[in-house]
This record gives sequence, structure tokens and C-alpha cells, in this order.
Amino acid sequence: MIVVHEARKILTMNPARPVASHVAVRDGIVLGAGTHEELAGWGPHALDRRFADKVLMPGLVEGHSHASEGTLWHHVYVGFFDRLDPEGRTWPGATSIDAMVARLAAAEAALADPAQPLSGWALDPIHFGGRRVARGDLDRVSATRPIGVMHASGHILNVNSRALELAGMLRGGIDHPGVPLGEDGLPTGEMKGPDAMTPVGRHVGFERDLLSADEEGFRRFGRLCARRGVTTATDLANPLPPAAADMMLRVAGEESFPARIVALRLMRGISPSEVVAHALELRARSIDRLRFGMIKVVADGSIQGFSARLRAPGYYNGAPNGLWYVAPEDLREVYARALAAGVQIHTHTNGDQATELALDALEHALRLHPWHDHRFTLQHCQLADAAQFRRMKALGMCVNLFPNHHFFWGDQHYAMTVGPERAERMNACATALATGVPLAIHSDAPVTPLGPLFTAWCAVNRRTASGRVLGGAERIGVADALRTITLDAAWTLRLDGEIGSIECGKRADFAVLEDDPETIGAEKLKDVRIWGTVLGGRVQEAAAL
Ligand SMILES: [Zn+2]
Repeated sequence: MIVVHEARKILTMNPARPVASHVAVRDGIVLGAGTHEELAGWGPHALDRRFADKVLMPGLVEGHSHASEGTLWHHVYVGFFDRLDPEGRTWPGATSIDAMVARLAAAEAALADPAQPLSGWALDPIHFGGRRVARGDLDRVSATRPIGVMHASGHILNVNSRALELAGMLRGGIDHPGVPLGEDGLPTGEMKGPDAMTPVGRHVGFERDLLSADEEGFRRFGRLCARRGVTTATDLANPLPPAAADMMLRVAGEESFPARIVALRLMRGISPSEVVAHALELRARSIDRLRFGMIKVVADGSIQGFSARLRAPGYYNGAPNGLWYVAPEDLREVYARALAAGVQIHTHTNGDQATELALDALEHALRLHPWHDHRFTLQHCQLADAAQFRRMKALGMCVNLFPNHHFFWGDQHYAMTVGPERAERMNACATALATGVPLAIHSDAPVTPLGPLFTAWCAVNRRTASGRVLGGAERIGVADALRTITLDAAWTLRLDGEIGSIECGKRADFAVLEDDPETIGAEKLKDVRIWGTVLGGRVQEAAAL
């Protein structure tokens, strides 16, 4: 059965035929994009005109996200910025501590069981002018119900007095760097890092590993993808224990699952040889809508958390250098073993010293095990300078930059973390393109909201939350930005032969838009309205999800 979709415009991302009016689909595969007359040559078909007033482009590809975004929506959203949930509701930002308390109090009033914990997520006090949240703030919501609020970074948990009490920590004499104390000698309720968060987290609904989604969360993540025009998304850092892999295979195997997921095996608490073996074992279980077989390594922390590894001269405000999240010798070993086994690795590097370590490690490993098409990808790589992009090019690496940072934390990077000069060249998209390094851009959802057209807007405009342009020289054009969220992101996942453009032989994965991203204007790219997606030929209207 052949269906020919008619559209107002089809942006194909195929340079030989960039725009078309019709696309023919059979068995989930594109037969061709062109005129109705050209496509009629394929034989008897049904003409579907429901997109006659819409714009189609290749389904968007999110090259760095986490399916745990879906799980976090089990908790109350208290982030600073407005955010769309998987059911299509936009939650306004909680722009002050009072607003956060009011949001939690409204949720608290709806809970019947007085012992049931209340939990929130996406708190980002960097926007509250330096004022930290303390247990007294959350005690205003309830002094008797345990309450916990996870920070946007996922690295800090704020709890109320009742939660501390249940964990046996509402007492003096606690001496731990992750548990700051107030003037009364008692914990303030800010729990930093896994050691401090774990014992109290289980009393406030955060007992799970934040890196893996539960079944309902995984389903929600799929729906959120379709609402954002995304047909392929990564779950970039999942430990993928057997139960999680089985659940994901079962759910993504359902005909109605609304997205393709590429899940990478996180190297954490596992040796280099074991992680390569596990990636290969998982790869053999891949299905159409769930792909395994790659590895994620985290080399350092975050710039705004001052845990990223920077080369000299270090942080602008004099903060000490950050942390290695992987032993440098393990990075060298896993690169060599992965190259030998034909397993691709994506490596989180935020600071430029971490990027340098990855470049050195790959250069060394490639001498031992040459692989001409390895596509090892640096993720975030926010502080790379021009010389490092040239090395990436020489070594055959890809990069997936994080332009959303300019909007959410650009003002802080300029004033505090890395200072004016490096803040202006962070996430150097224009340099990557000029150097010829294959470029994708990402949201790192749940760290920032999933939405490749918003991410493209960030790369094109480089506006901060306060409205200034940060590093105008690194802006890229709309056409380039649209390619980074389709075909080029697909390249970093080794899927560019299958998805990322609308042309003969590729999967019928489309983003269905109400507005034309090519003509709406660079400053409005984030406002393009999304109707839904087509996944393997199946039409998915966001409003009907
Ligand atoms: Zn991430």
C-alpha cells in the first residue's frame, strides 16, 4: 500500500532535491520526494492531503538526551523556566523561592495520605541571586510530610526537616563535605553528591537511579519526543541492567511506541573490557525502535558546578579545578578496546582539559587500532578552542555541542565561571563547521528541555536569559542549524544512511510543522509550532497522544 502525502512544503535535507511538495511512503520507507506526478509512477496509491497546509522536514534527531526526563515528571516541576510536560501541558517557571513553595503547597494539598512523600525537580537556585534553599523553606510547605526537591543538575537534593528526621540526620555532629550545616549546627537540608543524597533520597521519593527511566517514564519520554518533532532520541548514559534493557525492548517493540531510541551503555562501576563486551552483547538485541551497541564515558563534571576540568588559567572566579569522573588510564584503555572491537564511544567532556585528555587518548589508541570511520564523539565539549577542533578533525572525531547553555547559564558563565572571553567562544558551532568537524547540537534533557528547534534557535542566536548576544562570531545560519538537528546528528549515531533526510530508501520519519523554519525568521525559530511526527510512516498527532 503506497501513501502519497501532500504538504505545503517538504524540506528534505537532500541537497540534490532540497524542497518537494509530495512524499511517497510504502511499508514505512520513503519511495521518493517530488511532485505528485513523479511519484505516481510508483503505482496505485492513496493521496493523503491532511498535511496540505503543513511543512514536513526529516524527523528531528536529539543526539544527547536522557529518557529519565520522562521519569522526572512523576515529581512536581519547580524549574525557573516554563516547560512542556509529556502530556502537552506547559508549566510556568517558579521564578522565586516563594513561587516554588506555593507550587509545592498546591501539590501537597492534593495528597490524601499524610505519610506520602512530596517531591519536586529542576530547582536551579543560581537564578535566585545566590540565595540557597534551606529546610525552613520546605518546612513552610509541610513540617510533617517528608519533602525533597532535586536540583536541575541532578547533583544536589534539598529536603525539609521531616525528611532529615526520617533519615536520622536532624542532629548535630554531622561532619561531611556534602552536608552543609546551619548556624544551629544542624544540616541546612542541602544534600550534595550521591553520598549525602542517597540516605535521605529514599524518604522523599528519589530512591531510583536518576540515569534510568522506569516503564511509565520511558513511555512519557516517547510522547514528549513526538510533541517536540523528535523521531530519534538518545538515552545517552544508561547502565542498562538486564531488567531495564528488557523493559525498554518490550515497550519500544510495541507498534505504537512513538519514537526511536538509541541507548548508550554508561561506563560506570564496570571495567573497560566488561563495558565493551556488554555493548556488543546489547548490540545484538537491537530492534527497529531501540538501538544498542555504543558506550558513553563521562570524563569530568559541569562548568556551572565548578566540577569540569579546565586547563590553565582555570576558573575566572578562582574556584579550584574540577574532578575527573573517569581515571585517565581507564579512558585510554576503553578507547583502545572499543576501537579494536568496532564499538563507538561518546565522551562527556565539559572542560577543555577533559577534551584534551580525550584527544590524547584517542590519538594514542588509534595508533594501536586504526579505524577509519570510528565517529567517536565528544559530548558537550563546551570549552574546546580552535586548536582542539582542528585535532578533532584530524582524528576523525565528531562533536555534539550544547548551545542551550548560552540561554540558561550564559550570563553566569560570562560573569563568574569562565569569564567573558571563554564564555563568548563556548560551544563554538561556527568554528566546528568551519573546521569540518561533523556537528550535532543538543539539550541534554532533562538538564535543559527537549526541543531541537529551540536548541537550533540557541545556536543561531546565542541569546542569554537576560537577552544579550554572547559570542556573535560563533552563531551559525538557520540552514546549518537545521542540518545539525537532523542529518548531522544522525551521522554521530551512525544512522545517517537510514534517517535524517527525506529521500528514496530512507525511513519515513518526519516532523510535521505548522510553520516553515526556513522562512519564519532566525529569531523566531524556537516558536515554530509542531503538529506531531510521522514515524516509519505512522502518523502521530501530538494532540492525540
Ligand atoms: Zn547528559
